[in-house]
Amino acid sequence: MSLTLYNDLTRKKEKFVALKELEENKKEVSFYSCGPTVYDYFHIGNARAFIVFDVLRRYLEHIGYKVNFVQNFTDIDDKMIHRAHQEHTTVAELAERFIAEYKKDAQALGVHEPTVAPRATEHIAEIINTIQKIMDNKHAYVSDGDVYFDVKSWPKYGVLFKQNLEDLEAGARIEIGEKKRDPLDFVLWKGEKPGEPAWDSPWGRGRPGWHIECSAMSSKYLGETIDIHSGGVDLIFPHHENEIAQAEAATGKPFVRFWIHNEFLLIDGEKMSKSLGNFLTARAAINKYPALAIRFFMLSAHYRSPINFTPEGLEQAASGVSRLRNCKADLDFAAKTKQGANNNFDLEKYKSELEKFNKDFHDALDDDFNTAAAIGVLFEIARLINTCLKENEILPKEFFELSLNILAMCDDILGVIGQDEAESSEADDPERAEIESLIKERAEARKAKNFARSDEIRDSLKARGIILEDTPQGTKWKKELK
Ligand code: AMP
Ligand code: ZN
Repeated sequence: MSLTLYNDLTRKKEKFVALKELEENKKEVSFYSCGPTVYDYFHIGNARAFIVFDVLRRYLEHIGYKVNFVQNFTDIDDKMIHRAHQEHTTVAELAERFIAEYKKDAQALGVHEPTVAPRATEHIAEIINTIQKIMDNKHAYVSDGDVYFDVKSWPKYGVLFKQNLEDLEAGARIEIGEKKRDPLDFVLWKGEKPGEPAWDSPWGRGRPGWHIECSAMSSKYLGETIDIHSGGVDLIFPHHENEIAQAEAATGKPFVRFWIHNEFLLIDGEKMSKSLGNFLTARAAINKYPALAIRFFMLSAHYRSPINFTPEGLEQAASGVSRLRNCKADLDFAAKTKQGANNNFDLEKYKSELEKFNKDFHDALDDDFNTAAAIGVLFEIARLINTCLKENEILPKEFFELSLNILAMCDDILGVIGQDEAESSEADDPERAEIESLIKERAEARKAKNFARSDEIRDSLKARGIILEDTPQGTKWKKELK
């Protein structure tokens, strides 16, 4: 199979081929994902979007693409201004603070850093330039210091949302303070208001509207036509519809080839959101549940199905992660204690079983990156490894190599087992070396019947979250799931 993705533009699953691949035979993907507005900590609904697109990106890398992944920070908008006023600080200080907090939480959740993470306020020139092109092409107008996109001049409006102009018009109103000609028109540039940050522009001082930053920054870093643009389903309308209108009105080229949207994380059946007040910040969730379990939870459903957040769901996810980590820890320990020639072990059969799982794993992700099915395959792999470990006193070196490789391959993409003690060698991990040496010292203390010392070592390791288990083959250790 090859990768297929559900494209919201065509409402179909389509085979994914990158533009550079078609045009220059280069395996390179341009991928833009709408990032957070940095006025507060992000919540675990937002985290769902960040985690699922992190996995899509990792999978594209895994199948051989160089992925140019751009995720913006919205660091100027009404919410930013409002919160800065509330906190008696500047918009710039607020943004700086919450960009740093975003990075901490994203890293804790195993979300890889984007290739570029542009901020709107650092791209005012590009934004003005994009608006100017839209004006030159007669799809925008100035109204008393504001600039609006003229939706009636853009017949394609509604391509993504799949609604025609009349239907959209019926639901739209002009709000107080807006100076637009038509209710569907949307703001590209807002004239300066007292106490708000403002920049010079050909239309007077002011600041960008929300939608324009993504069109401008996407073109700057990824070119006029990009392969993938993603976000949550709430962004389809108006944000992404407006992005298409702006970008295409500016360049005359198709803006995005694949539009991909994740469904909501729900809580008590409702969308988790800041405005409804029913949210749990990622920070609070990380303090309460293992970060790997949060990640596992988000990936245990297909990204286009809603998922309901419940504490039980998170606990189940934690036990799933533990099962996988235990399998990995057992494998690592057995590699040290059970390795040797074993003519009774049918290596060829094992190889072909793993090959089948390898294919199933890729088929699952190729099918519109079905992470839920991929996790299912990962469990089958763990079950097979556990069975082999249980049924054999000794296992050949190849068994360990194959098993560790397939777990590492799956986890490079999903990131639900965690790169820790088992992955590194003593030489490149001083902590691991220290733990191993304390375990050795404890074994010697026990031999010498110095139980005070051996208990002391066990307790001090436990306090650091390192759990020991004595087995006939020696002492096994693992890090507690945090
Ligand atoms: P925001 O900071 O609100 O623009 O959101 C950042 C990302 O999270 C966007 O892609 C949103 O569509 C997405 N998002 C917001 N709320 C939820 C939710 N409850 N479930 C899933 N994704 C969400
Ligand atoms: Zn955006």
